[in-house]
Amino acid sequence: MNTALRQSREVPFFNYQALVKPQRKELLDVMGSVLDRGAFILQKELAEFEENAARYLKVKHFLGVADGTNAIEISLLAAGVKAGDEVILPSHTYVATAAAVHFIGAVPVLVECGADHLIDPASIKKALTSKTRCIVPVHLNGRTCAMDPIIEIARTNNLLIVEDAAQAFGSRYKNQAAGSFGAAGTISFYPAKVLGCFGDGGGILTNDSAVYEKLYALRDHGRDRDGNFVGWGKNCRLDNLQAAVLNFKLQSFDREIARRREIAALYGEVLGKVSEVTLPPAPIAQGDHFDIYQNYEIEADRRNDLKEYLLKNGIRTLIQWGGKPVHQLEALQFKSELPYTDRLFERCLMIPMNTSLSNDDALYVAERIRAFYRGN
Ligand SMILES: *Cc1c(COP(=O)(O)O)cnc(C)c1O
Repeated sequence: MNTALRQSREVPFFNYQALVKPQRKELLDVMGSVLDRGAFILQKELAEFEENAARYLKVKHFLGVADGTNAIEISLLAAGVKAGDEVILPSHTYVATAAAVHFIGAVPVLVECGADHLIDPASIKKALTSKTRCIVPVHLNGRTCAMDPIIEIARTNNLLIVEDAAQAFGSRYKNQAAGSFGAAGTISFYPAKVLGCFGDGGGILTNDSAVYEKLYALRDHGRDRDGNFVGWGKNCRLDNLQAAVLNFKLQSFDREIARRREIAALYGEVLGKVSEVTLPPAPIAQGDHFDIYQNYEIEADRRNDLKEYLLKNGIRTLIQWGGKPVHQLEALQFKSELPYTDRLFERCLMIPMNTSLSNDDALYVAERIRAFYRGN
């Protein structure tokens, strides 16, 4: 293979300024139209986006909410999780997943992930107690968990499933959308997520109409669709300006995913033979999975040296969650022993994966990783 390295360059991990650039005029028109009509809360664009998102994901219901964390909290409530219940989730997730469990008075129980970096069914089984009520699989990095064994554990133990699909809008397993396997699934529209808005935003998908009705009221002060108060609720509505942006961006979402999959294929081609790194599955080798590559999380020998070498070469990388899975956050005082996850966090690294990368950028990143292990 060609050994002449591409010229040195700066590759940011994520470029927030670039988000608006390709469609600046169209986006400002969309936002201007909302502002001119004074249509801020629970308006037409929100309803349209919810309908389009449900159709896109092939689910019965989609509900816009304030953010991905509130989405988890009210989904647990609507599914029927109660104070004191134990809820099993992977430690390799954002602290928000555990916080949502905590703030409804339930108990987060952290378990291991497997080689796919997703919750490990064997570890779920070990964590079951008489208080276990719910499993929260987290579809990390744009890959849907292999759901069959998880569904089987839930079925045989009479447990609920609420999926954290914050990183997996449009990802599928056996041709079924991430988030649609359990009572409800939650999405984040944080700007750096695959489908991002220009502030905070979130959503919930469900095929269960009873759960949907509960969610509808929980999102808006306990009011049902006729405006009647049917119980306690929160305020966690998705504002209409963000909904308008999302509705617009959904139109070109397939293109965004196709581009991410192209970049993953490029990484796979150059790095596939580097024995010191383990890559996520390439787009062509996914079997039951359709991955949307929210992130590209590799495992790497001498991870910290590699990270520093890449930085010296202008390439920004990131270790997920600031380098610590939830059970390692001292302030939260978990006593879990999760050696597999501990070991993974000495090796995992996210390299740039977003639609503002050019092919040359991606090839530069891959070449530098290869050069690091070759010692040149
Ligand atoms: C982003 C994220 C969240 C939180 O979403 P917000 O919209 O920031 O509240 C929860 N879980 C996971 C796995 C995430 O990546």
